[in-house]
Amino acid sequence: SLSRSGDEGRATGTGTGKTHSQTRGQNRRSSAMITCYIGLGGNIANALGTPRQHIANAIAAFYASPHFANVTASSLYQSKAFGVTDQPDFSNAVVKVDTDLAPLALLDFCQSLESAAKRTRLRHWGERSLDVDVLLYGDDTINNARLVVPHEGLFARNFVLIPMLELDPTLMVNGQKLADLPTSQQWQGLEKLTGV
Ligand code: AMP
Repeated sequence: SLSRSGDEGRATGTGTGKTHSQTRGQNRRSSAMITCYIGLGGNIANALGTPRQHIANAIAAFYASPHFANVTASSLYQSKAFGVTDQPDFSNAVVKVDTDLAPLALLDFCQSLESAAKRTRLRHWGERSLDVDVLLYGDDTINNARLVVPHEGLFARNFVLIPMLELDPTLMVNGQKLADLPTSQQWQGLEKLTGV
């Protein structure tokens, strides 16, 4: 999660925003692809691999699925855990995709990737094998019990902003140029590694 600290209540939205089904129904033409940003992170190895391998597997799953096109991945990053700091560093990456999936179907896909990595949650804000977050779904604002987009914390996390800006340095969210956010220049605790 990109909310390793302060994510209480994230999933408690009551659907006050315009829901996806009101804007793009089931019968949406398949040509209507939406550009989305997906955050990937993890910090524990298990029998299925290292965090880095979990991230690589997740990226491969986007490439393999017919629901995604124009898949591009950021470099791999390493970030210090904060909040609960006595845990291993995190590996992080962001993927940009075009998708024909509705938002909740996209969340289902992301959660299937977490399951595939046999995600374990030992403690709140703590270790996880793979966390997959929907950061942006086009320009949509979504406030659903299961899905809040733009992802809370997006503006405050350098391990999300910096990989996103690597994919699109001009990216804007709600009229805010992400490159202009102070956090976009702050590399504390963050290190860029090689490609995933
Ligand atoms: P966490 O384990 O802290 O990543 O939280 C997972 C929960 O956050 C899931 O139950 C999701 O339904 C919910 N959630 C809300 N918004 C999002 C989002 N943008 N991306 C991923 N999960 C989300």
